Amino acid sequence: MIKKHSVVSLSYCLKNANGQELDRADKEKPFAYLHGMGQMVPGLEKELEGLKVGDKKDVTVTPAEGYGELNPQLKIQVDRANFPKDADIQPGMQFEGQGDGGTRTVFTVKAVVGDKVEVDGNHPLAGETLHFAIEITAIRDATEEELTHGHAHGEGGHNH
Ligand code: ZN
Repeated sequence: MIKKHSVVSLSYCLKNANGQELDRADKEKPFAYLHGMGQMVPGLEKELEGLKVGDKKDVTVTPAEGYGELNPQLKIQVDRANFPKDADIQPGMQFEGQGDGGTRTVFTVKAVVGDKVEVDGNHPLAGETLHFAIEITAIRDATEEELTHGHAHGEGGHNH
């Protein structure tokens, strides 16, 4: 059964509220994670607790328990001069900056307009209600090394 510090392999299909597929991992190439460490969005992780190999489940995750609500204050315009002169700033580029309350936040460039750059520090899935269809394909205990690192190793997990 899935409990804290289980290494869980699962297949999943993630859709948004419109039924559009956003991401998936098939059974042949499952995703692996270390349970109970906050590696999954909270609304999904708590629903996986106690499941067994072969269990299937549909889980709906609200923005609050997913990637958070959209924060309009994280959509900002910055001066092009704040970026290195020779940098080729293009939509889709990401960089780390300071968000609300000085927390480290990943910003995505949305547009370059004249000498202004429009950036968005919201997670791409912020504000989305997420629908996961999951199936558990394997469960094992974490190794000492995995617990030290705080993530799963091996197939579907972290490859250093
Ligand atoms: Zn590691």
